[in-house]
Amino acid sequence: MKIKLHGLPRGISNISDSVQPGSVGLPEDIFREPISINLLLEDVGDLINADYQFVASCFGICDRCANEFSFKLRAEGKLLFIANSGDEFSLQDSVKYFHPDAPEIDISQDILDALMLEMPVKLLCKEDCKGLCQTCGKDLNVESCDCKNEIIDPRWQALTGLIESGESEG
Ligand SMILES: [Zn+2]
Ligand SMILES: [Zn+2]
Repeated sequence: MKIKLHGLPRGISNISDSVQPGSVGLPEDIFREPISINLLLEDVGDLINADYQFVASCFGICDRCANEFSFKLRAEGKLLFIANSGDEFSLQDSVKYFHPDAPEIDISQDILDALMLEMPVKLLCKEDCKGLCQTCGKDLNVESCDCKNEIIDPRWQALTGLIESGESEG
């Protein structure tokens, strides 16, 4: 995804576009639909301020019930592009430099980074997903079972172990 600088009007302009996930390096097994791109650009000459919004439809496997489900990812933020002919190097991710003669600015990496940052660590099809029965493997969101899955508190388990070892000594 590139912002064309030639013909970009001074002041505020809006760019709405969509890109193929693969073209910006997003994994296509998760991102299967075009990413919607919304940019509010403010061009003040050597400096371009960009408010961005990237929206993606994703597919994932639930960590609890192992079913595939779809979810939306939305990334919002600001990028600042500064024209510089030297080899300026920015430590800040949100500040980028571009050559004053450059015909365009490539924001593919920014789209990739912004969306991957929004990816949840734990994927759940729904907040209260009941998951699979540990004994019979039934999807407990769909049906219930009679298995007795006792959840043993690890602290109690440790205590039980202490008592048992104490008794065997005596
Ligand atoms: Zn689930
Ligand atoms: Zn069961």
